[in-house]
Amino acid sequence: MAKDRAQVKPKKHCRLRVKKNDTVYVQAGKDRGSEGKVIEVNPMTNRATVQGINIVKRHRKEGKTGGGGITEMPAPIHISNLVVVCPHCKAHMRPGKKTVERRRDDQVKIVHVRQCRKCGEQLDQV
Ligand SMILES: [Zn+2]
Repeated sequence: MAKDRAQVKPKKHCRLRVKKNDTVYVQAGKDRGSEGKVIEVNPMTNRATVQGINIVKRHRKEGKTGGGGITEMPAPIHISNLVVVCPHCKAHMRPGKKTVERRRDDQVKIVHVRQCRKCGEQLDQV
């Protein structure tokens, strides 16, 4: 864990199933069984920061920006430990893909959106 991630050679990242503002369920790790909202996703490290999940304590020295002390903040968790929760049917699932046409200014563009495998609802706005 102490490995400097900036030194790691950037891998070709694959498309991730988890997006920002998703609600995710934690499958593994110390926060197993809880849910939270995704704050940030890093495709290079395949990690996501989830609100209230994987809380770490940081001992901060008093500085210009504010007082020191112990602050608690969520640390990034690996995406393989997360599973997306459908906002419509609350099912834990692996999102499928759906192709839709987006009409904007008389132009039709084909876009891919994520879809719930249980209820078929779209997870992304077109
Ligand atoms: Zn659903």
